[in-house]
Amino acid sequence: MQLDTSLRDVRGVGPSTAAILARLGLRNVKDLLEYYPRRYEDYSNLLSIGRIKPGNVSIKAEIKQASGKYVRGGLHITEAIASDATGSVRLVWFNQPYRAASIQKHESYFVSGLFELRYGKLSITNPSIELESTFPINAARIVPVYRETKGLSSRQIRKIVREVITSATYIPETLPDYVLKDEQLIARKDAIKKKHFPDTINDVKLADQRLGFEELFELILAAQHSKRDIADQPSIKVAFKQDYAKAFIKHLPFMLTDAQKRAVWQIYQDMDSGKVMNRLLEGDVGAGKTVVAAMGAVMALAEGYQVAFMAPTELLARQHAETIYNLVTPLGFAEKTILLVGSMSAQDKKRAHDFISNGQAQFIVGTHTLIQEKVNLSKLALVVIDEQHRFGVEQRKKLLAKSGHVPHMLSMTATPIPRSLALTVFGELDISILNQKPKDRLPIITALVKPTDQLKLYERVEEELKNGRQAFVVCPLIEESNAVEAKSAQATYIEMKKHFKEFKVGILHGKMKTEDKQTIMQKVVNGDIDILVATTVIEVGVDVPNATIMIIEAPERFGLAQLHQLRGRVGRGKTRGYCYLMLSDSRAPSRRLRAIESTTDGFKLAQLDLDIRGAGALYGMMQHGQLDLRIANFSDTKLIARARNAVKEFMRKEQNLVQYPYIKKRIIELQSVVHLN
Ligand code: ADP
Ligand code: MG
Repeated sequence: MQLDTSLRDVRGVGPSTAAILARLGLRNVKDLLEYYPRRYEDYSNLLSIGRIKPGNVSIKAEIKQASGKYVRGGLHITEAIASDATGSVRLVWFNQPYRAASIQKHESYFVSGLFELRYGKLSITNPSIELESTFPINAARIVPVYRETKGLSSRQIRKIVREVITSATYIPETLPDYVLKDEQLIARKDAIKKKHFPDTINDVKLADQRLGFEELFELILAAQHSKRDIADQPSIKVAFKQDYAKAFIKHLPFMLTDAQKRAVWQIYQDMDSGKVMNRLLEGDVGAGKTVVAAMGAVMALAEGYQVAFMAPTELLARQHAETIYNLVTPLGFAEKTILLVGSMSAQDKKRAHDFISNGQAQFIVGTHTLIQEKVNLSKLALVVIDEQHRFGVEQRKKLLAKSGHVPHMLSMTATPIPRSLALTVFGELDISILNQKPKDRLPIITALVKPTDQLKLYERVEEELKNGRQAFVVCPLIEESNAVEAKSAQATYIEMKKHFKEFKVGILHGKMKTEDKQTIMQKVVNGDIDILVATTVIEVGVDVPNATIMIIEAPERFGLAQLHQLRGRVGRGKTRGYCYLMLSDSRAPSRRLRAIESTTDGFKLAQLDLDIRGAGALYGMMQHGQLDLRIANFSDTKLIARARNAVKEFMRKEQNLVQYPYIKKRIIELQSVVHLN
């Protein structure tokens, strides 16, 4: 047996079972070993028959007689009598016609199941039985329960796991011995065995400690290695010039918040340090990240370098370009600022490329097109990435190859990162937090709305529209679908047009052409559309200060972080914003929805999303499924602290990576996960 032995070659696994296993993503022995139980059922408490009471029971008994028969309606019943020194009990199986023949009379069995009253008789129904002489996996023990699928029950999975785990000596150790000793962790092979077939509940704990520690250790190690690799790369030193900072502030129409000033200062220090900046600027929607980035960028412009500012959509890129143009114009960089997006005409693009190549363009705002081969960014000193995280190692390497150095990186996100994640997965990043909103902002009010209150809500909307305000209505789908029951943008659009006859209603969704989207958005910004029905395309960034109402249809279909982002689209001006979550039915709203109603604290919501749905869901837009720990828990701060210390210790010795090739391999694998920018 080897970790990479195909499950097809395991005894008892036929081609059809192998196919079902593959559906669960289980192809080789390693996959199966890491297919940990979801939960356990405790049948470890063996009782004598004389002492059993209704409920789940386990006994050790001989089965004296067993017979099956068909009764009315084609139902098959197998009945047997199990006895020990203290008494007898009836066992019953339904629709298992093979059962009676397979029982070996007068052998000692472990029997586990539900002891209950059925058709007027006390019996153990559908029990698991196993010969005492085999290693029991279904009875008289703590029984693992797996995620099942059609055609594959926990019982079958247990059997296959037993096959590969009975002799676990082939499972290699993956942590250094000294770590096991220092941290008092059990060997990997023992941990895996105990995880599947624990003798006691404490065994599960020991296994979880060991396997969870390893997960955290690897993630943190990968993140810290990235951090070191980045710091070692050649970079550009961007000197701090006080005059420019002062001039920038002087021309702002508002005062920077202290949090903004602090963040800008950190960026200046990073870029002036001679090392590569790798900073995350984290701040709730409306916290004012754009101005921080622009002010940071000014230093690079002043030195004659280039700055690339990337937005996730063209819509946003255009908006940012305008904002940035206005911000840097007073400093004399108006001519140096250009837009580069996919939908531009070939001619315009060519012109932009030429400008960039000859260095005339310094502040380049766009989408991903920015880092295409054709764009010659030889003087690139800073990359700003707005609201997205798909800028990976590969892109960085491309830039390095292009210009011979690594640009400073500033990523901006409105999704707050709970501290536990900041210490582990995001450990490679330095973080600046905008924990203050501009002073003039009124907190947004959020309310859950029952379907029966829809008309009342519409009256409320009408009132607001009559005051000249605008509203967004966000739907989870574009069109009606048979598969999912939720209101679509199309249907809502029609409904809104009917209901709000005096107002102008528009629709915006991802399937529309870029120009059409732009036209619509421009109309919204100009106030020519009163109600915009949209899908989540408006989620990130869009700035319409006059919009005060956000209605979200079927909110249960969105993540908390997403809902929080969406409601941040309103109340961005000096007037208060309102967010109404239209519940799909009259059932009591979930804990998640109640949370979004009761707090505007993005950090709290992120922590909650993390607790309820895991990191993968929280950062779903990054498609980093691997962020989801299988065993460890991001709220286990003690284990995180231990793993961090062990990583520090491990990194102190350079030769460790040579000595532990498995760990080196894991670092490389995980770097693609932890490299979030
Ligand atoms: P986000 O952090 O969501 O990207 P933006 O950068 O789009 O936020 O800023 C939101 C709005 O707040 C913009 O209109 C911006 O001009 C304004 N703003 C930014 N900082 C301040 C401030 N310190 N005081 C007042 N308004 C500000
Ligand atoms: Mg923004």
